[in-house]
Amino acid sequence: MAHVEGLGEKRFRATQLFRWVHRRGEADFSRMTDLAKSLRDKLVVGHEVRPLPVVAEQRSADGTVKWLFGVGDGNAVETVFIPEADRGTLCVSSQAGCAVGCRFCSTGHQGFSRNLRTGEILAQLWHAEHQLKLRLGLPESERVIDNVVMMGMGEPLQNYGALVPALKVMLDDHAYGLSRRRVTVSTSGVVPMMDRLRDDCPVALAVSLHAPDDALRDDLVPLNRKYPLAELLQACTRYLTAAPRDFITFEYCMLEGVNDSDAHAYRLVDLVRGRSPCAPGVSVSCKFNLIPFNPFPASGLRRSSAQRVSAFAGLLHEAGFVTTVRKTRGDDIDAACGQLAGEVQDRTAVEARRARRTIPLQPERALS
Ligand code: SAH
Ligand code: SF4
Repeated sequence: MAHVEGLGEKRFRATQLFRWVHRRGEADFSRMTDLAKSLRDKLVVGHEVRPLPVVAEQRSADGTVKWLFGVGDGNAVETVFIPEADRGTLCVSSQAGCAVGCRFCSTGHQGFSRNLRTGEILAQLWHAEHQLKLRLGLPESERVIDNVVMMGMGEPLQNYGALVPALKVMLDDHAYGLSRRRVTVSTSGVVPMMDRLRDDCPVALAVSLHAPDDALRDDLVPLNRKYPLAELLQACTRYLTAAPRDFITFEYCMLEGVNDSDAHAYRLVDLVRGRSPCAPGVSVSCKFNLIPFNPFPASGLRRSSAQRVSAFAGLLHEAGFVTTVRKTRGDDIDAACGQLAGEVQDRTAVEARRARRTIPLQPERALS
């Protein structure tokens, strides 16, 4: 807005431009026909709508689509579209790699390369929304993606400065017009930034818990040593004072023999009810989302059996908590949670694996 004004144009021109780019997916200024010719002429000099280069695209048999976008210096990030009967969800990356280093996460094992810029976060949504709309032949007024989850590569709250402006564009009616309740930031628990998000741009919040006590969480999610459970749960209750939903979603990755016993489930219930010595007196309104672990070779961890996951879910449910078990989507193309690696350094190995796994393009209907 300020930039367009700086070019000597009226504010509404900025809104028009915004709509062309984000609503209509137009990248060529000369085709933005209702913009004054004088503005178009100014824009073509020194401005561009720069899409991220697509390094690879894969489609799963279940309709899931995964893009690998190049972000320079041999780095790449992944974005996953997950179609469901009543909605389309896009899983967006916030960083190339991740510095948190959770034991069960392939992105974490890869280490941290760099933060994505606001434009690079938005470019994932821009590409997915407009590409899919084009392929499905949908009119401009219809949306393909109505749900965004910041659950791709990276810890969004460790890239706060770029994240918040991107979230604001997702919510803007002149751009993607998503509901606050349908934009979810997932965090491993960067406590100070949870408070800032509540003040700056409250959207739905998911917290990756994975353990009912500090000893185990220290081991699985190293950030817990900095922000232990007592602080994390207090931050959750503060977040709820301004959140668009009246609960926090706790994500819990089910690891065989590590965090999946009945005793862990009981301790988890005690934790969120304020009855645990780790966070005494802090109870949090929450739902649980159990994620069966998606294995990758370097982790040395195994996925809990379906029976174990359902017994664990049963105990949480009996204790009165809404509990969902995440369906594994797109695992034939390594698009499931925690499998996003995005490495392009070792091209030969990656390309060979890709060649084996790439699925021929499905008819467009597979997406609906
Ligand atoms: N950094 C953020 C968001 C990205 S990870 C966070 O940790 O919340 C998104 C979700 O995938 C998190 O809940 C994370 O714990 C989970 N996840 C990571 N690796 C996984 C794996 N191998 N299997 C299943 N879930 C995993
Ligand atoms: Fe980073 Fe999230 Fe993976 Fe942990 S689970 S390493 S915070 S991306």
